[in-house]
Amino acid sequence: MSVEVRYQACTAHCDYCDNSLYGAADRRDALQMMRQAGWERRKVDSEWLDICPDCLFEEKFGEGSDGA
Ligand SMILES: [Zn+2]
Repeated sequence: MSVEVRYQACTAHCDYCDNSLYGAADRRDALQMMRQAGWERRKVDSEWLDICPDCLFEEKFGEGSDGA
């Protein structure tokens, strides 16, 4: 039998794309990991959205700007 380490205790999912952040032991740990990894939590319509750094970058420097 092989020993399998699972990181399913708490996984953060980006609400804008398919990115996920694995390895958190619990919810609190997940929030801390997300903050350290550059994720952002945002309250939209009384619901919390989790946004990964990629999407934050897209939002800042992506299609939104007309310049170039
Ligand atoms: Zn994302």
